[in-house]
This record gives sequence, structure tokens and C-alpha cells, in this order.
Amino acid sequence: RAKSAGRQRFVLFDDTLQQAAMDVLEIEQGLRTALAGNQLQPYFQPLVRLADRHVVGYEALVRWHHPQRGLLLPGEFLQVAEDSGLMEAVDWQMYRMACEQGGPLVEHGGFLTLNISPRHFQNGDFDTQLLQLAADTGFNPAQLRIEVTEGTLLGDPEAVIQVLERLRAACVEAALDDFGTGYSSLGHVHQFPLKMIKIDRSFVDPLGRQESREGSQRSSAIISAILALARSLGLEVVAEGVETEAQYEALTAMGCSYAQGYLFGRPQPAARWLGPTG
Ligand code: C2E
Ligand code: MG
Ligand code: MG
Ligand code: MG
Repeated sequence: RAKSAGRQRFVLFDDTLQQAAMDVLEIEQGLRTALAGNQLQPYFQPLVRLADRHVVGYEALVRWHHPQRGLLLPGEFLQVAEDSGLMEAVDWQMYRMACEQGGPLVEHGGFLTLNISPRHFQNGDFDTQLLQLAADTGFNPAQLRIEVTEGTLLGDPEAVIQVLERLRAACVEAALDDFGTGYSSLGHVHQFPLKMIKIDRSFVDPLGRQESREGSQRSSAIISAILALARSLGLEVVAEGVETEAQYEALTAMGCSYAQGYLFGRPQPAARWLGPTG
């Protein structure tokens, strides 16, 4: 009895593995086609100033219009891109389209941010390539920002600092994305030339939730501590993933300056933000 159940489980497990393996190959092959055939597209999500909800910038987020599967999110294909060596090709195609399509969004001010994967810092000329791209697309570098994660900073700190300093000299500032999810403290982070930190959505989510006052209070305490330290280090702070008015009010009361989230706008193609209705 146990044996046959075991065998049955084994068979199921085996099928699942094969399915997963096929999916990876299918995604990898599909990505090659996508790169050659205009299936990737930047969507743009606004960053707002909390005081008056004024849009201060847009983050470019990659989307894949898959001919059979429809709209795919980064979570469904970026890991495969990374594992199959396609990440740089995906990113550079994305950055180019983001600069081209995002130009009109920041025509009257504000900045555009790009998500930079850690591997771009492995060769030392990322800054040169990015500035070349800005020049090629006619995008003002002073309106371009990059978003890096703690993992990137920890890789080879000296090399990363050099690249970030050269970019800063060219007026391209850096933001630390998903802050709080990694291992570094703000004290450690201050050695990097950063302009902004983005507090991860997982800290913002419990804010103002009636059903868990304890969780909400714990999040408030963490965010308040981050805000105090960021202020003393001269860093701008963005709260990620703001979805409710209760979160908006809590963050405003704590003195957070900027936010991003579905409450202010979901990621959309540039044309949607430029449309006649705004
Ligand atoms: P991220 O940079 O932290 O981007 C924020 C993610 O949160 C985005 O997911 C965005 O759609 C989502 N989001 C924004 N507001 C809300 C909200 O109010 N509620 C909820 N539940 N989610 C919200 P997305 O677009 O799926 O991107 C996931 C991650 O993929 C990004 O996280 C970023 O790390 C990565 N990524 C996206 N585009 C690129 C790219 O072009 N290159 C690279 N290397 N990574 C990218
Ligand atoms: Mg980001
Ligand atoms: Mg983020
Ligand atoms: Mg995040």
C-alpha cells in the first residue's frame, strides 16, 4: 500500500519535473523569438510625491506580449533569461525602448528609472554603455535613474561604487530597490553613492490594516526607523506598493516623501499616460 502510493507519487513528481523542464526550454526559445520580433515592451508606473500626488517620475517595467500565452510579467521569465544568458540582451533592448518611449513622459520634467540586474556590474563599462544609449536615443542623462538591489551592492562593492560614481558625475542617480529584503543595513548602504531608497512592498503592505493592528504597528516602526536614518543620510525615500488610502495616510503622517503603487497608477504603456484623458 505504502509502496504503491510511493510509486504513484514518484510518477507524478517525475511528470512535474519534465513539465517544468519543458517550460524552461520553451520560455528560453520563446525569448529568443521575442528579442528578434518586438514582443518585449516597457510599461511605465508613476512615482508620486505624497504631499500632492504630483508625478515626479516613471519606472520602466518589462512586459512580454507572448503570441500564445498573452501578457507575461517579469516573474514568469526573467529568471529563465538570467539562467540562459539572455538577461543582458533582454535588458538592453528594454532600456533602449524605455528611453525612446519614455522620453515624451518626462518632456516637462521628472525622471525615468530603469531596473539594472547585477550582472551588468560584472564588466566595468556599464556606465559607458548606458550613457551611450542615452546619447543614441536623445535622452537627457540627468533625467535617467537606475534601480539596483542590495545583491548588486554586495557583489563587488568597490567596482560598484566606481560605476555609480562615474554615473553620478554624468548626472545619472541611483536608487536602492526593494530595501529591507536583503542583508544590508542602512548604515552599510551609506558608503554607496545613492540618491534614493525604495522601501520594499512587504513593509508597506501591513500598514493601516484593521485586521492586524500588531502587524501594522510593526511595519510603522520599521518604516519610521528607515525614514529617520534616510533623512540623516540625505537619502530620498520611496514607499513601494501603496494600494490603499489608509497606507497613503499612514506614510504621509510618518513623513515619507514619495510613493509608488496601484493607488496612484498601475504600470501601463507610455501611450496610455500620454493619451487625451491623461
Ligand atoms: P521592482 O523593481 O521592485 O518593481 C515593482 C514591482 O511591483 C513591479 O512588478 C510592479 O508592477 C509591482 N507593483 C507596483 N505597485 C504595486 C502595488 O501597489 N501592488 C502590488 N502588488 N504590486 C505593485 P513587475 O512589473 O512584475 O516587476 C517585478 C520585478 O521584475 C521588478 O521589481 C524588477 O526587479 C524586475 N524587473 C522589471 N522590469 C525589469 C527590467 O527591465 N530589467 C530587469 N533587470 N529587471 C526588471
Ligand atoms: Mg524597481
Ligand atoms: Mg522595487
Ligand atoms: Mg519590489
